[in-house]
Amino acid sequence: MIAAPATPNSADALVIVDPQIDFCPGGRLAVADGDAVMAPIAELATRFAHVVVTQDWHPAGHSSFASSHAGHQPFDIVAMPYGEQVLWPDHCIQGSAGADFHPAVAAAVARAQMIVRKGHHPDVDSYSAFFENDKTTRTGLAGYLRDIGVQRCVFVGLAYDFCVAWSALDARREGFEAMIWTPYTRAIAMPLAHGTTVDAAEAQLHAAGVRF
Ligand SMILES: [Zn+2]
Repeated sequence: MIAAPATPNSADALVIVDPQIDFCPGGRLAVADGDAVMAPIAELATRFAHVVVTQDWHPAGHSSFASSHAGHQPFDIVAMPYGEQVLWPDHCIQGSAGADFHPAVAAAVARAQMIVRKGHHPDVDSYSAFFENDKTTRTGLAGYLRDIGVQRCVFVGLAYDFCVAWSALDARREGFEAMIWTPYTRAIAMPLAHGTTVDAAEAQLHAAGVRF
């Protein structure tokens, strides 16, 4: 059992990022040990008045898939009109079993007032719950959270160094307090020239004032 962090209040929202079958062991873009956080997240969600879930939701042939780029392999990095993009294995295709939520997190999904689907535009990926990867197209989440009086977002889910981190950074950019409860996340940790994508994400998260 993961130790319970500070008590949430009515201005806090729990944002559960991409708790989907394709991101768990056995899935098409599995994050190591990703399934281990699902039942704890379901328990955690009972303590929040506001719960939001994001769902990666790509059309077949999405531009973030390596299979859409001749001569490229998953985890290659390519230049897109909006900047660098990591190419992924096909994953979370709309309506597929892999795009479903992990069964162990079902109680949290049932409790969620808002499910944000992202990555549905064919030509742009969306790691963040707030903005697509062009950093200008909004998902609508910031407006929703402001409308219901949320001031602080608590992020959990998958993957820590991509969709969780980008969501927390954008929460700060939108003027929310942002926390990541790291025991409820798991990372991809792709190697980079120096360190991994976890190190790169954490440098940005600390600079942006995201708390842990
Ligand atoms: Zn995706």
